[in-house]
Amino acid sequence: MICLGIEGTAHTVGIGVVRDGPVNILSNVLNMYSPPSGGIHPRDAANHHSSVFVDVLEESLEKANIGFDDIDLIGFSVGPGLGPCLRTVATAARSLALYLKKPLLGVNHCIAHLEIGRAMTDADDPVLLYVSGGNTQVIAFLNGRYRVFGETLDIGIGNCLDKFGRKMEIKFPAGPKIEEMAENGKKYVPLPYSVKGMDVSFSGILTAATVLMKKERREDVCFSMQETCFSMLTEVVERAMAHTEKDEILLGGGVASNKRLQDMVKKMAEEREGRFYCPPQNLLVDNGAMIAWTALLMHKSGMKMNATDTSIRQNFRTDEVEVTWRD
Ligand code: AMP
Ligand code: MG
Repeated sequence: MICLGIEGTAHTVGIGVVRDGPVNILSNVLNMYSPPSGGIHPRDAANHHSSVFVDVLEESLEKANIGFDDIDLIGFSVGPGLGPCLRTVATAARSLALYLKKPLLGVNHCIAHLEIGRAMTDADDPVLLYVSGGNTQVIAFLNGRYRVFGETLDIGIGNCLDKFGRKMEIKFPAGPKIEEMAENGKKYVPLPYSVKGMDVSFSGILTAATVLMKKERREDVCFSMQETCFSMLTEVVERAMAHTEKDEILLGGGVASNKRLQDMVKKMAEEREGRFYCPPQNLLVDNGAMIAWTALLMHKSGMKMNATDTSIRQNFRTDEVEVTWRD
């Protein structure tokens, strides 16, 4: 069975083709919107998505070496995300499903990050640290659902880095450049470390770093920001592992590309005799293959959706999903 998966919750249009059985990714094509200046305006991102959609689709089918007739199922990310982006991609997904007369499934974006990690690594029942631009959540499977054990109380970690990057006139996405600058940091300057139970908060760090930037070396501020934010995330994910008595930790989301974050979480896992897993970079970021794979799991468990079930859900919560494909 072959599934076409479509992602478009925020900055990226991703279309992937996945065959079931042992996960087999035939293609995974991405096109990310990077605004010429400032932050991402949802309407501009949606316009980007509609303008590149057909090209991304054609490239994805070509790379997978399949035609429209080979597609058995279509999955798309139904939420959470930016309304105009979700609507654009949902319209495209629905049109395609109607035209091809194939079943359509709306996939929860956060759960897709977790499922592709389980498929691509040896992780079986992990705690997911999902760190992206808009989302920061600690998710694990408990009593039949994916539950959020901790999350940001304000902005996502990626958004915190990107906003700080903007102050330094670094274009979106700023995370990779901040990581590079942090490697040349020599001094730790204290920032407001904020953990509340298993939740975290980043907006105070952003404000403090913006002030510090005027009197400290930028490399030192980047270094201190990474050390503070990533220590907070490592602390809460360790607490979630202890609480759920799980010994696997999986990373997901674009910020998980960061080597310093990977090292910190890995070290924590090793110290607790747990196991650390991180999927390859092109599956960490928002992508269509993870949506296709999750749609396949849903479909094989007997899930069906009619047109109203595929209405977009901007605030779709991870724990609202009925998980029919796991025991
Ligand atoms: P996503 O929304 O999951 O596709 O991830 C995008 C986010 O990941 C953006 O906020 C980027 O700034 C961030 N990001 C990408 N690479 C890195 C990195 N190496 N270090 C920190 N953040 C990163
Ligand atoms: Mg994401």
